[in-house]
Amino acid sequence: MLPVVALVGRPNVGKSTLFNRLTKTRDALVADFPGLTRDRRYGQASHEENNFIVVDTGGIDGTEEGIDVEMAEQSLLAIDEADIVLFLVDARAGLTAADQAISQHLRKKDKPTFVVANKVDGIDGDSYSAEFYALALGEVHQIAASQGRGVSQLLDHALIPV
Ligand code: GDP
Ligand code: MG
Repeated sequence: MLPVVALVGRPNVGKSTLFNRLTKTRDALVADFPGLTRDRRYGQASHEENNFIVVDTGGIDGTEEGIDVEMAEQSLLAIDEADIVLFLVDARAGLTAADQAISQHLRKKDKPTFVVANKVDGIDGDSYSAEFYALALGEVHQIAASQGRGVSQLLDHALIPV
C-alpha cells in the first residue's frame, strides 16, 4: 500500500494546483472561485524513488463567523485516511481564523503534518510566512504551487516519516 498524502486547507489556498503539479495531470478542478472541488480526488505521484497517493479535498469551509469552522466531511475523511497531511495556507492572504481552526483539529490528530505556505511567488516568502508559525505545527514550508517552486524541498521533508 502506497503512503497517502492529503492536501487540506481552507478553499482557494491552492490545493488543486498542487495536486495537479504532483500528479502532473489537470484532473483536479482548479477554480478561481473558492470551494468548487467538492469531493476527494486521488492521484498518483512520485518523488525520487518514493511513490505515493495524493488526495485533493474540497477544502474546509469556514462558517460566516469564521471562528467555529465546520470541517467538510470529505476533508475529515481524507485526514483520517492519510499517512501524511500537507496543510496549505495562503501566504498572500495571511493567517485566518479558518486556518487557526483547522490547525486545532490537526493538532489533535496523530499525523505527521506539514504547514505549507503557498503563493510565495513574487513576494518575500520569509516575511509573509512568519506568521504561520503561530499555528504551532512546526516549520512553515514555502512553495509556489503554480510554478513548482519549493515543492521538491517540501517532499524531501514530508516523505521522510513514511
Ligand atoms: P483550492 O481551492 O485550495 O483547490 O485552490 P486552487 O488550486 O483552485 O487555487 C486557487 C487560486 O489560487 C487559483 O486562482 C490559482 O491559480 C491560485 N494559485 C494556486 N497556487 C498559486 C501560486 O503558487 N501562486 C499564485 N500567485 N497563485 C496560485
Ligand atoms: Mg480545489
